[in-house]
Amino acid sequence: MTPLLELRDVHRTYHIGESTVNALRGVSLSVEQGEFIAIMGASGSGKSSLLHILGLLDNPDSGEYLIFGNNVNRLSEDEQAGLRNNVAGFVFQQFHLLRRMSIVDNVRLPHIYSGLRGDFRQEATMRLALVGLEHRIHHTPSQLSGGEQQRVAIARALVRDPLIIFADEPTGNLDTKNSTEIMKILKGLNEEGKTVIMVTHEPDIAAYAGRVITMRDGVMVTDERRAGHERRAIPADGLRYTLPAADRGNPWRSGRFAGFMAQAFQAILSNKVRSLLSVLGILVGVASVIAMMALGEGAKVAMQEQLKSMGSNLLSIRGGSAKIRGAAQGAGAVTRFTMKDVEAIMALAPLVKNATGVVSGSGQTVYANNNWSTNLEGAGYDYGLMRSAVPSIGRWFTREEMQRRDKVAILGVTVARELFGSANPIGKTVKINRINFKVIGIAPAKGFSGPRDEDDVVIIPVTTAMFRVLGKDYLNGIFVEVRHPAQMEQAKEAIGELIRKRHRLKADDDSFNIRDMTEIQQMLSSTTETMSMLLGAIAAISLLVGGIGIMNIMLVSVTERTREIGLRKAIGARKNDIMLQFLVESVGMTLSGGIIGVLTGVGVSLVLSFFAGWAVKTSLLSIMLATVFSVMTGLFFGLWPARKAAELRPVEALRYD
Ligand code: ADP
Ligand code: MG
Repeated sequence: MTPLLELRDVHRTYHIGESTVNALRGVSLSVEQGEFIAIMGASGSGKSSLLHILGLLDNPDSGEYLIFGNNVNRLSEDEQAGLRNNVAGFVFQQFHLLRRMSIVDNVRLPHIYSGLRGDFRQEATMRLALVGLEHRIHHTPSQLSGGEQQRVAIARALVRDPLIIFADEPTGNLDTKNSTEIMKILKGLNEEGKTVIMVTHEPDIAAYAGRVITMRDGVMVTDERRAGHERRAIPADGLRYTLPAADRGNPWRSGRFAGFMAQAFQAILSNKVRSLLSVLGILVGVASVIAMMALGEGAKVAMQEQLKSMGSNLLSIRGGSAKIRGAAQGAGAVTRFTMKDVEAIMALAPLVKNATGVVSGSGQTVYANNNWSTNLEGAGYDYGLMRSAVPSIGRWFTREEMQRRDKVAILGVTVARELFGSANPIGKTVKINRINFKVIGIAPAKGFSGPRDEDDVVIIPVTTAMFRVLGKDYLNGIFVEVRHPAQMEQAKEAIGELIRKRHRLKADDDSFNIRDMTEIQQMLSSTTETMSMLLGAIAAISLLVGGIGIMNIMLVSVTERTREIGLRKAIGARKNDIMLQFLVESVGMTLSGGIIGVLTGVGVSLVLSFFAGWAVKTSLLSIMLATVFSVMTGLFFGLWPARKAAELRPVEALRYD
């Protein structure tokens, strides 16, 4: 009959830096079902190493290990984990209970790696009753004595109904009374048919066993069976282990995911301050992304509004050189345009859609006791439409009014406010440079362009301005609307040529200039684009910093919980299970940070727009993006720590302190 377990000439060597330790040097051993074996020997003789290999927590360097005649050394790490979960139960000297969980949760822990559905509370409670702790199920490990904790560990070892119980110095941390209790339980389990393999260096503990193996320097020196401890005959059925086929390491499908979620949140909550601080990092990052994007978007929208108010496909023709503006202005020759020029430009019909002359000067406005000096703009009839200056309150002047040089005025918002306060100016009479004008409209608000208040203006018919107010017989400039955006260059050349011809100017004359307003528009919009990108980048950096914070905390958490990881692996957690557990934890933190961050960001944007009057626009896209990003941050920065945790070898993790 094939033995339950069989070792054939097993060697195990540890390498620590330069030195090597031959922990096992050719151990051969076979174990029958139902045996109670004590492994004895001096400290460092290789007892634990042997037990780890038998328990599949470690693999031999050479030699074979058979379970029911199957060579298990060739199984993958995950298959070995599955096997441990199904056939082995472990009891350690240090108990290895998870402190933040209740007793019953500790006991049912192996079940979340079993792939079986259910909460297994009842099974756990039953095992706890078996070790006499059913009345303590809601306590946490720290509320129990050492002996009680070890009994919990035994209950946990039993919850999956293993064939074999591996115990490494189970009474090593206990006093005599508790030791006796534990040994009685183990003995009882053996009598019920469980195979027990136990490491101990105390003879009176070994006395419970039916077979005592003594190790010295990595080899077995004695192996004796005791009279009176004959093992019971075990029926041959039930000797097969099976890995549940549906559960080959797909934690998503087997319903384990929900368990991981619960565990992750337990872990997050058990370190409240630390988790809160890491979440805060993400929160600040996400909130600033949202707020910055809202600001950038708001600026863009405001800019687009302003660009629209500038008019489209517009050329601005002015007297004087484009190169020497500012200090040198007026030094060179300045072409003086007339209404005839406007008509001539209009005649370039298919290319030019519209043209209008403007004349400007300063205006002193007076209404009642209010005085306000402003910019006076004389404009042609078409100016209103071309430059989006047609009032929505009141009206634009008519062609007849322009021909008659009527004294009608359209006030900019600033002027209206300064002169009239909150009163309605329409139909009132104001004095402009001591001449009475009738207010017929209020120009749409345009806001600031740089330091210049575009609303600090009074618009009157160009003819009135030239001949009645400013006393000029020439125009300061002409605005031309080109029919198609693609023809801007062509129109510029044609108009330049026309003006040179009409004013008899040389080809290189620079007494006038033509500016393409779309260039300014493009420049402005690319500036806002750059601005919002910059804002976004700054916000992204703070998210990155938050992510690094998460990674840091996860690394600390992995290190801190090395023993927990070892324990989880011992009871059957696969690599993916551990990985997922930590990923769920980091994503859980970043996602909650993300959600609170989105809310904070939206709040901050609202506050900014409300109190500071900044244009903000929160888009659904930015909210979604920020949420997705926070999840990605969790995945990305959690991956390395999670992998680190998953790669830990169970034995080394358990030994860690
Ligand atoms: P015992 O349990 O009998 O006290 P162990 O089996 O734990 O002895 O260890 C046997 C020898 O192997 C010891 O010298 C120990 O220091 C060494 N050893 C055990 N595990 C490791 C390890 N993971 N890395 C390095 N040396 C180890
Ligand atoms: Mg040991």
